[in-house]
Amino acid sequence: MAEFLPFHAPEIGEEEIDAVVDVLRSGWLTTGAKARQFEQEFAAMVGARHAIAVNSCTAALHLALEAVGLREGDEVIVPTMTFTATAEVVTYFKAKPVLVDCTGDTLNIDPDKIEQVITPRTKAIIPVHFAGHPCEMDRILDIAGRHHLRVIDDAAHAFPARYQGKMVGVIGDCTCFSFYATKNITTGEGGMITTDNPDWAARIRMMSLHGLSRDAWKRYAAQGCWFYEVLSPGFKYNLTDIAAALGVAQLNKSDRLWKTRAHYAALYDEGLRDLPEITRPSSAAHVQHAWHLYVIQLDLERLRIGRNEFIEQLAAENIGCSVHFIPLHLHPYYRNTWGYRPEDLPVANEAFQRIVSLPLYPKMTERDVQRVISVVRDVTKRYRR
Ligand SMILES: *Cc1c(COP(=O)(O)O)cnc(C)c1O
Repeated sequence: MAEFLPFHAPEIGEEEIDAVVDVLRSGWLTTGAKARQFEQEFAAMVGARHAIAVNSCTAALHLALEAVGLREGDEVIVPTMTFTATAEVVTYFKAKPVLVDCTGDTLNIDPDKIEQVITPRTKAIIPVHFAGHPCEMDRILDIAGRHHLRVIDDAAHAFPARYQGKMVGVIGDCTCFSFYATKNITTGEGGMITTDNPDWAARIRMMSLHGLSRDAWKRYAAQGCWFYEVLSPGFKYNLTDIAAALGVAQLNKSDRLWKTRAHYAALYDEGLRDLPEITRPSSAAHVQHAWHLYVIQLDLERLRIGRNEFIEQLAAENIGCSVHFIPLHLHPYYRNTWGYRPEDLPVANEAFQRIVSLPLYPKMTERDVQRVISVVRDVTKRYRR
């Protein structure tokens, strides 16, 4: 049998290894010149005025909400079809995450279902660009504008992505990226916030390092100074230069990584096109999809097995798959604390039964992609009604 194809493996080359070794030899391990370089190059790539490197996308979301002034008792609109980090950060403020259903095609937040949950306490919307397909940002920004809400993009999946020609990173008020091990570019753990607002950028930078006064991060460098002041009780969210060196190296090849993802997605599209049991992920004409995930939806009426058995069949053929996501409103915390029932967000609830994420990453070969296609076709045909 063919070797096991994991659901994901990072693309780490000699460039990344050399870059990390250089930092280790330099004598400066934590936030310093490499983190600054990573920020500047990332900002240039998305066209944002400011970029602040942090140690996760979760930290980025937390800092962005803090910068725009989220307070206890506020409400923040979050899609249910996401990872818990998107909503968890809202609870850090003793604020309430208000979950919204997705559309059946992109699985992004449904703009038609946002306004009905807005109350006088609503402060912000966190659209998640699911799988790397940008949300309908014109609709979301219009709603936010009319109700005076802040828009904080969760772009954990969405580098590099475009909406109406604009890079994700310059659309909402703040945009939060993830460089977690499985994301499109990685620093092991890491994140970035981009914004065009200088006040938020300064606040985010200060709060990312204990609320210390400006440039405290270089207090042990030759040009630094021992003196600092604490301006606010902040957090410990800064990115190390070890991680930032990885980020700079990954950014250098990000265009090639993205093109490979897009190419593999096109191969999947071509190879699965004629199967009526499988709905392939949609990609609107006005977006550039980042292709973080390739999520197919099974037509369960046409199959004799469910989603879990489908994944087991692929595992039996040595292919690793995953599910993105278990909608938040189905988890015990969100059910018990906020009173959600499965049928409250029916589109996500139903989609959850049918979604399978196929392996999609540049370290796979074209042959790997063809093997996944061939196994998916075999399993589908074996279990079709
Ligand atoms: C991975 C992920 C996050 C969290 O990113 P970290 O860098 O691990 O904190 C947030 N939102 C979504 C949608 C994610 O997939």
